[in-house]
Amino acid sequence: MVSPAHPGTEQGRVPAAVAHLQQAAQQAQLRRYGVLASLGQLALRDLSLPCFARESLAQLLETLELSQGALWELLDGGRFRCVASFGASPRPGQLVEPAEASEWHALLATPSLTAKVFGEEAPVPLTPLAPGSQGLLVRLPGSSGEAVAVLALGMLPERRCDADALSFLQAVAHLLGAAISREHQTRTRRAEVERLQALFEGSPLVIGLKGPDGRYAYVNRRFATYLRKPVEEVLGHTDEELFPADTARMMHAHDDTVRATGEPREFEEELALPEGRLLFLAERFPLREPGGTPYATGLMALDISALKRTERELRRREGELRQMVDGLEDQGIIGLDTQGRVTGWSRGAERLKGYKAEEIIGREVAFIHEGELARPGMLREALAKAAREGRVEAESWCVRKDGSRFLSEDTVFPLWMEEGGLRGFSVVSRDVTERYEAQMELQRSEARYRLVSRATGESIWDWDLVENRVEWGEQALERFGYPARESASDPSWWEARIHPEDRAAVLSSLVRAIEHGEERWYAEYRFLRADGDQVWVRDHGYVLREGGRPVRMIGAMADITRRRRAEEERSRLYREAQEAIRLRDEFLSVASHELKTPLTTLQLHLQMLRMLATKGGSAFSPERATKKLSLAEYQVQRLVTLVSDLLDISRLNSGRMEFRFETVDVARMVRELLERQRQLLRHCGSELRVQLRGGYAARVDPMRLEQILTNLLSNAGKYGQGKPIDVSIEGDEDEYFIRVRDRGIGIAPEDQQRIFERFERAVSERHYGGLGLGLWISRRIAERLGGTLTVRSRPGEGSTFELRLPRFPSETRPSEPVDEAHW
Ligand code: ADP
Repeated sequence: MVSPAHPGTEQGRVPAAVAHLQQAAQQAQLRRYGVLASLGQLALRDLSLPCFARESLAQLLETLELSQGALWELLDGGRFRCVASFGASPRPGQLVEPAEASEWHALLATPSLTAKVFGEEAPVPLTPLAPGSQGLLVRLPGSSGEAVAVLALGMLPERRCDADALSFLQAVAHLLGAAISREHQTRTRRAEVERLQALFEGSPLVIGLKGPDGRYAYVNRRFATYLRKPVEEVLGHTDEELFPADTARMMHAHDDTVRATGEPREFEEELALPEGRLLFLAERFPLREPGGTPYATGLMALDISALKRTERELRRREGELRQMVDGLEDQGIIGLDTQGRVTGWSRGAERLKGYKAEEIIGREVAFIHEGELARPGMLREALAKAAREGRVEAESWCVRKDGSRFLSEDTVFPLWMEEGGLRGFSVVSRDVTERYEAQMELQRSEARYRLVSRATGESIWDWDLVENRVEWGEQALERFGYPARESASDPSWWEARIHPEDRAAVLSSLVRAIEHGEERWYAEYRFLRADGDQVWVRDHGYVLREGGRPVRMIGAMADITRRRRAEEERSRLYREAQEAIRLRDEFLSVASHELKTPLTTLQLHLQMLRMLATKGGSAFSPERATKKLSLAEYQVQRLVTLVSDLLDISRLNSGRMEFRFETVDVARMVRELLERQRQLLRHCGSELRVQLRGGYAARVDPMRLEQILTNLLSNAGKYGQGKPIDVSIEGDEDEYFIRVRDRGIGIAPEDQQRIFERFERAVSERHYGGLGLGLWISRRIAERLGGTLTVRSRPGEGSTFELRLPRFPSETRPSEPVDEAHW
């Protein structure tokens, strides 16, 4: 470094040369002061740093007559950037790069050098640092003395700087340092303001600043957007100009409060805005001068309308939910935290467990439980299981506040937070004491029922209506011949074994009982045994309900076949007895009528005969008397026939009818009989035609055979409508057939069997007299003779009665009594 030249002062007279030098020095000094003054003024002007630096550097070089110079600004991280340069290579804005080591200013990239420069107040000569270089490095201090830049000056080799020059240099260095410091501060402030501005503009908050005159000095974009105006149309305006009167008044009142207290304060403000009334959470705050005088009020507000709406909606829903939860009369809803402490207690829970919410919230719910859940750690275990498995059900006895006990059925669900953590638990509690007691009672009665079933031999069944499964009790299936292991749990097993004719009625009565809230069901039906037999069963059922809902049915089935058969037999006998009584009554009325008719006629003929006899004279003649007598005889004959029919019945019934078999020529016998009957049939208007070929020797009771044929011929006359009657005999060596054919009214097919029964008639008693006994007697006799009596007939076309008899019956049957108890 060049030692500055110190102008010496000498005692005495000052030589002219020295004086000249002194004058020159004073002038140089004066010039430097001038430069400093003008630079000082420049610094006060609002020049940009590069401009000022350039000007300062230029003045400095010129004043000190230096050849080159550069101003290097120290950046963060210890690097340097060129602010201004003269006569030197770096351009303004250029950074010092170590690569440019050939340049002298590359020295600045050497940390040891910069440390040295910054450590020195005084300029550091370049020479020892950069061989061949001549110059100075000057540290530029900032506003608080820290190094902010380096001034690198080059000078011609012969050039020296004196002390004045150096102090000038220092002064300029201070000026430049201060300028750079200022520039730094300005930059920092600008960056801060920009950051703040970006923050405000991007903020979801409505931000505004009002000056003391009440006009907005700053509003962010969001503020203006709510007013549907550009920012510029809001700035400079008052609340009265921007908002409706009531809103503006309210804002003023709030501002006044803030100004009066000098403290920031939060308000909920409802503002009338173009899009409607919106709710804001507004923070209003006073802005103060450093001395404390407020000069403005600020506002930061957040639109909480949507939030409020959501909050209201949430509250409404919560209220509804609570009402619902509290409305559950018979269920307690309980909230638990993760530790099992009560956080929520519904009205239902209060009713159920007897504790009020305030008495139990915060406590462990387990304390009201007995047994399992009350055991230390059990509740935690149950909760952990619920968290693991999503749900846990527990039944345990609880003690109410009043000391009464009840069986509580608790279902525990875990409650999860949105992000997945466990928030707590929700418990649904029900008092199931009644159900439990009913179940116990049921179990007891089931046990009793099992015993009863053993005692009575009934098949007990238990039908789970919810699961639709039937359980058959002990021996239930075996009683119907099925193996005990038969898979009969599906109700269709039972259904399929009901007799098809009874099935619909049984099932519909069952459905009716279940659906119509009836307690009991009863049915009697036929049921299929394993061996294929149908048995009659009596089935009872009892319907169990839960809350009105049918859940189960228990019943018993008993085999009542014997009782049923006895009943059927009884009712059949009753029916038959009724019928017999009816027939007897009918017979009595017909018989009395039949007996009365010939008697009346007979009486009439006898009266007339007496009249003739008493009158005498010409009225009485033997011919007239004979005629009357033969008419009377005819009626007597009718009576005899009737009475002998009745006698025959009683004989046949009691087995006392006797048969006298003898071998006769049947053809001849029939011929003789027909001769006798011919006259009688003529009365009816029917002609009798006979076809008899040869003789038929046969062994028979001729009286009885005649009785049958007389009966058939008299019917043919009675029902033959006066049309011809044919009688024929034909046969072989074993048997012979005697047929009596008429062409009268005929017999309906459905009556053709019936007419052979006692008192059975196919015609009305009004049109044709008769007891309905002739054919019955005839068939019985035919059977006794070892043959048959049958009929073929068509209504309206006549009938053919055929008597088939063996010619030589091997043995005559013993006379059997008729088993007719009711006769
Ligand atoms: P009844 O005294 O009523 O004739 P029967 O036992 O002889 O008694 O006959 C029974 C019924 O059979 C008669 O009432 C009649 O309805 C029917 N019947 C019998 N014979 C004839 C026939 N030849 N033609 C039509 N119906 C007959």
